[in-house]
Amino acid sequence: MNKFYLTTAIPYVNGKPHIGHALEYFQADTVRNYHRLLGEETLLLSGADENALKNVQKAEEEGIKVEEFLNRNSKVFEKAFSDLGIKLDVFQRGSDKIRHWPGVQKLWQLCFKNGDIYKKTYGGYYCVGCESFKTEKELVNGLCPEHQKKPELVREENYFFRLSKYQNQLTNLIETNELKIIPENKRAETLSFIKSGLEDFSISRSYQRAHGIGVPVPGDKTQIIYVWFDALDIYMTGIGFGINEKEWNKWWPADLHIIGKDINRFHTVYWPAMLLSAGLPLPKEILIHSFINSGGQKMSKTLGNVIDPFEIANKYGVEALRYYLLSQIPLSEDGDFTIDRFLEIYTADLTNGLGNLAARVAKLSQNNKIKAPNPEQVFDNKLKEYFKNYQFSEALAYLWTKVAEVNREINQRKPWELSGNEAKLTILNLIKEIQYIAFNLQPFLPQTAAKILNQFSGHIEYQSPLFPRIKNS
Ligand SMILES: [Zn+2]
Repeated sequence: MNKFYLTTAIPYVNGKPHIGHALEYFQADTVRNYHRLLGEETLLLSGADENALKNVQKAEEEGIKVEEFLNRNSKVFEKAFSDLGIKLDVFQRGSDKIRHWPGVQKLWQLCFKNGDIYKKTYGGYYCVGCESFKTEKELVNGLCPEHQKKPELVREENYFFRLSKYQNQLTNLIETNELKIIPENKRAETLSFIKSGLEDFSISRSYQRAHGIGVPVPGDKTQIIYVWFDALDIYMTGIGFGINEKEWNKWWPADLHIIGKDINRFHTVYWPAMLLSAGLPLPKEILIHSFINSGGQKMSKTLGNVIDPFEIANKYGVEALRYYLLSQIPLSEDGDFTIDRFLEIYTADLTNGLGNLAARVAKLSQNNKIKAPNPEQVFDNKLKEYFKNYQFSEALAYLWTKVAEVNREINQRKPWELSGNEAKLTILNLIKEIQYIAFNLQPFLPQTAAKILNQFSGHIEYQSPLFPRIKNS
């Protein structure tokens, strides 16, 4: 049996899950469902990056213990999946000393043995928000452009990773798609970053600067492993790296990492270089999504345009939210979410489109006492093509052309005016078409697809609408 192992990004838990997380989690679940339908064994992993300084700072602000803060906030992220109707297989926490820490130290030792870790004194500007050093040319008016904060000037002796050594090898792996980066514009960004020249980077910090939080450097208690060198390992420790070879061998390498565009470099450059150094297999594909704005502007509390995905899911249904995010947010560019646009899509595609189609065919079947045949279990070839590059919105647009076609067919043939065998054959054909749509919809909208497949099996009855009409308020 083939396996498919995929991961979401590992979020810092200092904030709350937002609509970008919802998009990423829906994408991951859609890919997982697809591979499951192909008969593969799948594993979906997420986790929490808990050894970051910003968690320590947030806990201090709130006046609670770091441990208490991490326990509480990690649960919020873990629960986000079930609130969005997604079943995770593994949620791996970075503070887990039994499952996670041994693997982090093992990876360190493998890179060390290969001569890629060395000590040097370093000074630089460190942005805690980014958890990384900034060069002066990256700063705007002395501030981190991402966080609008002045980075701390840090000077200390740290361990460094010999990233520069992997420049050619990485270029080659990405250019040949052995390490496949999707979409194309993000792949181009990575390649141009690598070609501009890779510099070794710091992978530890002093015990004091880390506030004692994090995984100690093997053999040097005065240093703590840098948060990225630690957090990325969650992709392996969550499946047994460092403690359970058999489990790890079964799943690694990851078939797919799904991440946001802000952490591209860490995943397409640092992470593969660390694995190359350790002599471990690389992930096969990295899918990078963009951000979601609202009304053309970045969501912010000040602007008051923050969309809470859990509120939308509660009010209109998880799958209505899921449909919008998968169908309306493009892969390579930032997308947009406003309530008005959401309601427009909801009404057009879900209420009047798919929902209306299911209701019409159910009514016709019930009135003519027609039983459903067993559905054909075939996955559409065109959808398979779309899945190769994770073109979720194109795939759904394609399925919805089928929804529109069948609705049009009903309008033209007017089966309610037909009788006898002609009526029966026409309606039977409509049932087959709706079964085909529902079967192929399963990866994207699993609950809706299951409802339709259920409704159109055996004895068919008209049921309450899949997507109730929303009255204008
Ligand atoms: Zn920053």
